Amino acid sequence: MQIRPITDKYAVSPQIDPADVPAIKAAGYTTVICNRPDAEVPMELQSAVMRIAVEAAGLTFVDIPVSHQSLNLGMVEAQFAAIDASAGPVLAYCASGNRCSIVWSLPQAEADRLLQTEPETFCHALDSAFAGTLGKTRLVSERAVFPLRRRLAKNMIQGRTLLLGDAAHAVHPLAGQGVNLGLRDVRTLRDALMLSKQKTGDALDGAQLARWARTRYSENTLAALAFENINRVFSNDNMALSLLRGRLLGLGDRITPMKNAMARYAAGL
Ligand SMILES: Cc1cc2nc3c(=O)[nH]c(=O)nc-3n(C[C@H](O)[C@H](O)[C@H](O)COP(=O)(O)OP(=O)(O)OC[C@H]3O[C@@H](n4cnc5c(N)ncnc54)[C@H](O)[C@@H]3O)c2cc1C
Repeated sequence: MQIRPITDKYAVSPQIDPADVPAIKAAGYTTVICNRPDAEVPMELQSAVMRIAVEAAGLTFVDIPVSHQSLNLGMVEAQFAAIDASAGPVLAYCASGNRCSIVWSLPQAEADRLLQTEPETFCHALDSAFAGTLGKTRLVSERAVFPLRRRLAKNMIQGRTLLLGDAAHAVHPLAGQGVNLGLRDVRTLRDALMLSKQKTGDALDGAQLARWARTRYSENTLAALAFENINRVFSNDNMALSLLRGRLLGLGDRITPMKNAMARYAAGL
């Protein structure tokens, strides 16, 4: 069990076991929040089992299962309410202890400016940027800025080494497509290998590998530029652009085949 304190009153951890409860109690926690859906764990770690173990130790157990698909403001408020209602420190667990994290991407100059502002001004700007959906935030550690840079390896083959995943392409994280691009590198390589094996009974030769690398480089470059331009369009406050993107999104939402095709691409299918 790895408990990571976030504040004096709130800590997070990966999945816990009933055998961990005495140590959780000894560490002073009075409430345990389960943020992990039962479908992700075997029967012996599901919330009903954890509730019995936690309540038997005299602690409060609150079940707020969170998944990417189901996360909503009601869950955020339930989490805050459980923390507020707790007599003492709260431990929330999920698979990793990282169920919720956010990326706030800003132009460099704006990020540098916000880094220098008073904590209250910074939190106010963050709360406004997320339209209050994060609740009222406050700083618990030093702020840090990480530059986001497009990095595309022009050649994914170096001698007998193949570059795949982020080693070959680092793209803007806004679309959440980094892993999918890496998986596509692997899938297309596997398909090319299988085809070659079927046709020649042998692995890929240099020319076939070079063709694979060129195709991947094109797709990865296109994706990287598309994500950056989506970011440019959506982070621009220009009124006309804002109206236009609203219209385009509305239109895209109504054209079901287009919407489905985009959803399939984003899901890596
Ligand atoms: C803020 C942020 C949010 C993101 N959000 C999403 C998202 O929502 N969805 C999505 O699909 N993608 C997202 N991504 C992108 C995603 O994280 C990456 O595309 C993905 O992790 C790349 O996987 P990888 O295995 O290629 O590389 P990595 O995950 O970088 O793995 C490389 C591993 O190699 C290790 N390593 C490095 N050098 C050595 C060495 N010399 N010897 C041994 N080990 C070494 C590293 O420690 C690391 O563990 C996000 C990225 C960022 C920065």
